Amino acid sequence: MKKLAFYCSALVFFCISLVVQANGVKHGAIKIVPIEHASFVMENKKQVIFVDPTGDKSLYQVYSDPDLILITDIHGDHFKPELIKSLAAPKTQILAPQAVVDKLGEGQVINNGESKRMRRLKITAIPMYNITESRLKYHPKGRGNGYLIDWAGQRIYISGDTEDTPEMRALKDIDIALICMNLPYTMTAKQAADAVIEMHPDIVIPYHFRGKNGFEDVDYFTKQVKKQGIQVDRLAWYP
Ligand code: ZN
Repeated sequence: MKKLAFYCSALVFFCISLVVQANGVKHGAIKIVPIEHASFVMENKKQVIFVDPTGDKSLYQVYSDPDLILITDIHGDHFKPELIKSLAAPKTQILAPQAVVDKLGEGQVINNGESKRMRRLKITAIPMYNITESRLKYHPKGRGNGYLIDWAGQRIYISGDTEDTPEMRALKDIDIALICMNLPYTMTAKQAADAVIEMHPDIVIPYHFRGKNGFEDVDYFTKQVKKQGIQVDRLAWYP
């Protein structure tokens, strides 16, 4: 009977943990709010960051003017020049890879491997690229950036559009990792799970998981990484 009660409560816990959190999630002082697919907002009491903002401007108007807009790559699901220009306030810093700054005509360049310190943050650009032969055309190495952000005592990794590269697998001491998975553009749920298990962040947030023929298998990803003691926060990326 005791065993039955244990399994029941474990099942309830498992189901609760699979419920999608629509309004974002708070880790320490930092709140992460999904907008759509690859676009999200991170904020604490002092700073607001928009990451790859896309969609309608009204989605962002509930937030204070951004201190920072971070862009990962040139594709339309990450980069909308007109929207960026309309969201940027005088205090906003825009940080992006060279290919994005070239198209945007403004912003500060940060390329693979570089770090910048700005307003209580340290940001490091992590290479994001394809490694599977048939997918190399989507994200050649050197163009786009994933990001590692040291902020308010937390280390947050944003994968951008990547496969399970050695650089990603080698990341250490990550508190929160936002990890993409979608075909044919980035990686499978299995690749993502394998890489995350090696990286072993405290918390992983799957994002950017809608591909050409539907969604990548986030349930499979969730089960695999949870077995290794990694917390999975599932947010509402596709409203
Ligand atoms: Zn993308």
